[in-house]
Amino acid sequence: MPVPAFRQSRSRQGKRRSHHAISATRAVVCPNCGNPKLPHAACRSCGYVRPGLQLTKGTRDE
Ligand SMILES: [Zn+2]
Repeated sequence: MPVPAFRQSRSRQGKRRSHHAISATRAVVCPNCGNPKLPHAACRSCGYVRPGLQLTKGTRDE
């Protein structure tokens, strides 16, 4: 299996790893019940998705 001929400098290593940071999970406030929920997902406490669509409790497997 081929291996790199020369080691990479700390500068190139750092440049590569500059994209490795993870960002905190974002949350939005549910307009139906006010609890925090993940955007584009059903609310975990009330099941609200969007106007006209609300999942009743028990439809999610937890
Ligand atoms: Zn809710």
